[in-house]
Amino acid sequence: MRNSTSFPATRTEALSRLEEFAKGAKRYAGARNFVTDGHTNVSRLSAAIRHRLITEEEVVQCILLHHDFSNVEKFLQEVCWRTYWKGWLAQHPKIWNHAVRLSVEPPSDLAQHVMIGKSGCDVMDDFTHELIETGYMHNHARMWWAAFWLHHLKLPWAQGADFFMRHLLDADPASNTLSWRWVAGLHTAGKSYLARPDNILRYHPHCRTGGLENLTNTVATIPDDDADSTMQSLPQWPTEWKPSGDKPLGLLLHPEDLSVEMSVLKDLKPSLLICLGYDEKNGSPQQRLWRQQALADAEQRAEKYYGVTIIRCANADEFSIWIKQNPQYDLVGMAPHVGSLADALYAVSKVHAQSFIWLQRPWDRAFFPAAKSGFFSFWNKISRAEVFQSRQHQGEFAF
Ligand SMILES: Cc1cc2nc3c(=O)[nH]c(=O)nc-3n(C[C@H](O)[C@H](O)[C@H](O)COP(=O)(O)OP(=O)(O)OC[C@H]3O[C@@H](n4cnc5c(N)ncnc54)[C@H](O)[C@@H]3O)c2cc1C
Repeated sequence: MRNSTSFPATRTEALSRLEEFAKGAKRYAGARNFVTDGHTNVSRLSAAIRHRLITEEEVVQCILLHHDFSNVEKFLQEVCWRTYWKGWLAQHPKIWNHAVRLSVEPPSDLAQHVMIGKSGCDVMDDFTHELIETGYMHNHARMWWAAFWLHHLKLPWAQGADFFMRHLLDADPASNTLSWRWVAGLHTAGKSYLARPDNILRYHPHCRTGGLENLTNTVATIPDDDADSTMQSLPQWPTEWKPSGDKPLGLLLHPEDLSVEMSVLKDLKPSLLICLGYDEKNGSPQQRLWRQQALADAEQRAEKYYGVTIIRCANADEFSIWIKQNPQYDLVGMAPHVGSLADALYAVSKVHAQSFIWLQRPWDRAFFPAAKSGFFSFWNKISRAEVFQSRQHQGEFAF
């Protein structure tokens, strides 16, 4: 089993992984699809970026300090796939609610066997064990595994997505739900992804091959889709805010943004910090452990930076009770993205609307609106922004 530093769980570890990875980032485009022991072809930074121990902006800046854009464009694109998925889901939020509804159906015996690594296809079972033991699966393996689950075994895509959400350290409602829908053929109409034995053997040459031959004749099955994919306007959260000063300020730290002292909240002078726990009872032990470490790291940094008392709330319900008991505070936090945390927190902030303000990072504000159709049209637009073009980036995201 890999140790926690394989998947950095503190900001310091993530920055040092980034620095180390950046030096060889030119090799990424040619090597990234190969599944190798230890996964050193890829950064393994996804959990840190998903929870914003480090931000996409920091990753891009660091990579461009070492290389010209043209030598690392593939890596920069991958970093921005997350932004694309988040921006797209924010404009189609009902897709998330639909996926959650579908995932509550009890899994069949076959699905349960696959989820414990007993599918009969050795390479897929090895990926399952790796996911359960480490909380990580390589991107190419995720594509094969999802294709195996839904096109070969004809299992419901949302249950596979839910299995990933419970185990991945980087579990992200946008990247996960929409990647599963992409493999299923529901994101880009009519285009699905199949796991082919020759492709698996080319990119994972040392894998165990038992049962692999059965995948040769798999036929894609695009599931019926009754999700409401109506496009909605993006929430217009501001990127800066000045408190009136009439009331003391409580600053909310939650798992979707674990670097508040490096955000648009950095100039505020809160009277206290309210730290929200993960409250994901279904998560695997590996996932819970990583999250506890990451949250503890974020709390320590924020406590040191703001120098104020910390109040801990295990979940949104506890937070709501705390607000009722402490109505004297104005509250400010980074707006969570579509997902279960946002569902819970926006419900609380609606009830206490007078005292709540959500802010967003300029990166999200600038780039989410461009995630309207396919990734490459998104990339062609946003990659014109100064952040991708200049080593002396001034925080300018217009494109
Ligand atoms: C079925 C399926 C489910 C997935 N579920 C998730 C998920 O829940 N959470 C998640 O973060 N990623 C998910 N991905 C995307 C991708 O597999 C992981 O982000 C990537 O494997 C993380 O490893 P890394 O940090 O070593 O990536 P690297 O290859 O080093 O990429 C650098 C960074 O770019 C981003 N990135 C890379 N590939 C993708 C991608 N395809 N989509 C979005 N962002 C990407 C990540 O932030 C990553 O850390 C999923 C992909 C598939 C096919």
